[in-house]
Amino acid sequence: MENKNIIKLFKLTAELLELHDENPFKIRSYANAVGALELVEAPLAGMSQVQLEEIGGVGKGIAAKIVEVNTTGSFEELDQMLAATPPGVVEMLRIKGIGPKKVRNLWKELGAETVEELLEACEQDKVSKLKGFGAKTQENIRQALLFTQQNRGKLLYAEAESAAQKLLENIQEAFPEAQVSLAGDVRRRMEIVEHLQLVVATDAPAEATGKLSKLQVLEQDEKASGPLVWRGQHTVSGLSTEIFLVPEASFANELLTRSASAAHLTQIFAAGKCMMAVIRQENHATEEDIYAAAGMAYVLPEMREGSNELQLAMENKLPKLLELTDLKGSLHNHSTYSDGAHTLELMATFCRDMGYGYLGISDHSKTASYAGGLREGDVLRQQKEIDELNKKLAPFKIFKGIESDILGDGSLDYSEDMLKTFDFIVASIHSSLNMDEKKATTRLITAIENPYTTMLGHPTGRLLLRREGYPINHQMVIDACAANNVIIEINANPWRLDIDWRWVQYAIEKGVMLSINPDAHHTSGYDDMKYGVLVGRKGGLTKEMTFNTKSAEEVEQYFRERKEKIK
Ligand SMILES: [Zn+2]
Ligand SMILES: [Zn+2]
Repeated sequence: MENKNIIKLFKLTAELLELHDENPFKIRSYANAVGALELVEAPLAGMSQVQLEEIGGVGKGIAAKIVEVNTTGSFEELDQMLAATPPGVVEMLRIKGIGPKKVRNLWKELGAETVEELLEACEQDKVSKLKGFGAKTQENIRQALLFTQQNRGKLLYAEAESAAQKLLENIQEAFPEAQVSLAGDVRRRMEIVEHLQLVVATDAPAEATGKLSKLQVLEQDEKASGPLVWRGQHTVSGLSTEIFLVPEASFANELLTRSASAAHLTQIFAAGKCMMAVIRQENHATEEDIYAAAGMAYVLPEMREGSNELQLAMENKLPKLLELTDLKGSLHNHSTYSDGAHTLELMATFCRDMGYGYLGISDHSKTASYAGGLREGDVLRQQKEIDELNKKLAPFKIFKGIESDILGDGSLDYSEDMLKTFDFIVASIHSSLNMDEKKATTRLITAIENPYTTMLGHPTGRLLLRREGYPINHQMVIDACAANNVIIEINANPWRLDIDWRWVQYAIEKGVMLSINPDAHHTSGYDDMKYGVLVGRKGGLTKEMTFNTKSAEEVEQYFRERKEKIK
């Protein structure tokens, strides 16, 4: 089991203990263990009891439980707590903004054992009457429940991708001779995945269906399946799954049909012609052949969204899309100065050892006290350390940044004297998220117009599948960035992927550069840049329009010149 999944089990145990009103010391020992384990780089799965005990903050008891997890996938105390808790109540622990104590009240005092019962209680105005709740909390709970209900059975791309890859391997093993490919949401790199779809070439579909149903990781829904399509569930990911069984000869046709949006397939691109019609004309040997038959350049699966890609392909003007290897550095990252897991030095050397030329450190600003935001003295201390590290690590370069909270009125979080000391400033909203579109847009634009703002951080504040972002007028925000020469980040954290790829093209048209920012709070966070690149590509992002494809020298010059222009 991966470290993060082991940590999840301990977090859950701490929550369950609190839910059951257990001994606070016990709860604290789990919470401490979670903190300690988050700092461990090496895989916990390979460690012995003795090695585990050597980790600071991990005692004998916790070490034994990790060993137990490594052999059985769980541990007894957790199993007992889960057995004593209705699954619906465990699910309630995931509602944002209410902790285990409040969940306990909902369960014990209202008798709500499922999320449906809780939703009903909200709608009957029963929750607001509980001690410590009130109308506002009730409404937050109701919204959160509706949101989860809508999103049940969906996964983030980052999770779905690895599940899909494993399923593909399982199917390839079952059909060693056949052509097999992923299709659907995963192949199109959608930020949220609802279904896994695959295409398998076979001349014996009935036999193939039998083979698929024998796979341990698949559970067939016989009613929904047909002679040429297997439907059911991938039990590992919980995603609904469709596997299309087609003769070898029509494999490419089926693959393209299942790897493009409806808009891409039906958009008329020339004299009444659409891709669907081209596909139907005959069996093509490859996807490339189909586009050639349509008289256009090959369109990559991630771009098949029905925006302007067919037109560009007709004119042979498709952009050369950004690659992960084009990135030369990483901006917007956190350290232990605020809420990051690692020291500045480790964040820097790790980034360097991954082959990058620079790190932009942008810890939280002072208003973000919940995230250890930096007071003025902390900023100066950090900047001094950066100067020292820059001497030591040269030519690797650390840029002095801050993720400045955008306050309610759109102003930034420090005085001008302080703002001047940074090389760059990422401006982000983290508080008072309940805003209408007008308020949120004005707040952002005020921050964008601040001459010290270099970059706009996660523009909508969304957390995919967990929290909707505040509504903004994207067009106005992008126009303001264009007018004020502000870069927009694609926050590459798989939960965020914000700005949404659907706005990338508009930003590029306006000449606004985008930056692939991992918002890393841990050295492992740098890997997330991959997801930022994938969604950037969906929006047609090129190397030229990506800020962090610049070299350290170019970035330094850009930051310096931009600051010099401030009057
Ligand atoms: Zn942020
Ligand atoms: Zn951040």
